[in-house]
Amino acid sequence: MSTRSVIRHERWTLEPDLEPDAEATTYAMQCAVCEAASDTDEDFADPQNWALNHSGRNPSHHSYREITTQPWRTWMHTAPVRWGFDVGDVVWDDHARRRGVVTVRNGGSVRLSGDSGQEWITDIDSVATYPTDLDPDCPAGAVAMKVGPDSVRIGDRVRVQGQIHAVHDLRPPVNNTSRTLVLPGHGDWTMNQPRIIYRPLTPPPATP
Ligand SMILES: [Zn+2]
Repeated sequence: MSTRSVIRHERWTLEPDLEPDAEATTYAMQCAVCEAASDTDEDFADPQNWALNHSGRNPSHHSYREITTQPWRTWMHTAPVRWGFDVGDVVWDDHARRRGVVTVRNGGSVRLSGDSGQEWITDIDSVATYPTDLDPDCPAGAVAMKVGPDSVRIGDRVRVQGQIHAVHDLRPPVNNTSRTLVLPGHGDWTMNQPRIIYRPLTPPPATP
């Protein structure tokens, strides 16, 4: 009889080693009366024959111990690559129909933080990574990311009062914590906290 249990401890799993290169499972029999033992063998028949012969030579020795050596292995879980995103990335939650920053991944669920800091939990199967056609606000070929006022660029698109605007120009910075963006159709708009923006994967050609 061999154990088949699997034991999990956070990132590690312990299980019987059934790989082709595993050490062999071996058997031995030991007399419980005099402690004499058979040779260790991968074939259980020889230790069993040893026990029968041992009783034949020692007729009062009737109790034996089976000694099985079972190879086990541990393996460490790596982050499932199918998720394709990390904490800090902006993803689209197609269930809530919102975009958010990944703050926690936990098994099949993901905690997201929206642009104004509200958090929610969603199923990993409803999470899409950018570029995606699911986000109706995202221009084709752009990705969503969260940037601060010091790292917004010309060509990024920002969502202001429910409308998407391309950043046409940047006013000289007044300080490190805010930046005034020139948005055609809207006018100047001051960005004073990190925001989720859309950035084209191919930046527009630089203008002299
Ligand atoms: Zn014995």
